[in-house]
Amino acid sequence: MRLVVGSSPRTGSLESLREHNLLRVVDVLLERGVASRADIARRTGLSRTTVSSLVADLIRRGLVCERAGTPERDSGAGAGRPPVLLALDRSVGAVVGLDFGHTHLRVVVADLSHEILAEAEQAMDVDHSAAEGFEAAATLVDAVLAEAGVPRDRVVNVGMGIPGPISHRSGTVGSASILPGWVGVRAAEELERRLGMPVVVENDANLGALGESLFGAGRGAREIVYLKVSSGIGAGVILGGRIHRGAGGTAGEIGHLLVDEGGHVCRCGNRGCLETVAAAPGLLEQISRTHGSSLSIHDVVALAAGGDPGCRRVIADAGQHIGRAVAMLCNLLNPERVVVGGDLSAAGDLLLGPLRAALDRYAIPSAAEDADVRTGLLGERAEVRGAVALAIGEAQPSLMQATGGTAALGSRGGTSA
Ligand SMILES: [Zn+2]
Repeated sequence: MRLVVGSSPRTGSLESLREHNLLRVVDVLLERGVASRADIARRTGLSRTTVSSLVADLIRRGLVCERAGTPERDSGAGAGRPPVLLALDRSVGAVVGLDFGHTHLRVVVADLSHEILAEAEQAMDVDHSAAEGFEAAATLVDAVLAEAGVPRDRVVNVGMGIPGPISHRSGTVGSASILPGWVGVRAAEELERRLGMPVVVENDANLGALGESLFGAGRGAREIVYLKVSSGIGAGVILGGRIHRGAGGTAGEIGHLLVDEGGHVCRCGNRGCLETVAAAPGLLEQISRTHGSSLSIHDVVALAAGGDPGCRRVIADAGQHIGRAVAMLCNLLNPERVVVGGDLSAAGDLLLGPLRAALDRYAIPSAAEDADVRTGLLGERAEVRGAVALAIGEAQPSLMQATGGTAALGSRGGTSA
């Protein structure tokens, strides 16, 4: 581990207080990516003078650098003069983010300010075989590291998203029916073995929720439902600012709520799940009768945007079905923000209009009123940005332990948004 803040052997209480405060500054930078001195003061409760002194120390040690640009979040700065932003120096470390969808793999390398340095994507049948997925992942990781000029030993952690339930007790992929080729696979261990790097794993919709909550349409909210509407439909649920996984990692499987008792059999083994009518394969099947079977979901969205009535209709119907399911979720969880991501979210209000109407119709009025429904801002990168945030967040304890600053660890553990 390269990040050594507490390199001083001095152990006086004033020294240890200062080291503790240095770690708090580092902590803010790890979570936010970039922050102004004013942001850091606000988030740590330290005075501006103290923060300036601590930052000067970190800059002198080569751990922190000043960076041009605008903050991803409201910096609290007045209009006019842009604040000077701080970030951890690129030499401190890097992380890799992997996003497995049902039909693609995306890999990025990012610095500890969450900035993506290189990116690669490959279309593949991920559901089919975990081994093939890991093979492709290892190749793409090598490619992005080479492109970014990041040596392997600088990578402090790898975050990986998988489109199925992950049991956090056993670390295995939990559902035989949702990801048939991954049953019983200890995904993190397996990828660690191949990459020779530490790996943390999380459900893909949970990562989308994390990404949007930190850098996208979920900012400022603590009760968030993120929907990934693509080849499947999953929800990432953030309650009180923390990802809610449930007892065995299956929380948020909204795609398998029953919407049509006599409907098609779903890959989960039930009949008439939301996914069968509102995820990409269901939509493509419906539109194939009039438009042929060669369209992709991107084509359907583009045609709908151009006014094609059939494509508009299937998207609107999907929005209505999803809205009914979201209404149930809103009655149960009362989120303040519902963020819609995934491939189908590109349809914008063609999807969200009917979704909102169904939500208003089927949810308790107060629950519907509280739920601010928005399109995700990170698009197809929501999950991989969440994977980067997970990798950085989960690396923090080891980064901090390497510094001896255990006091800063007291409130940590797990991924917070
Ligand atoms: Zn199902």
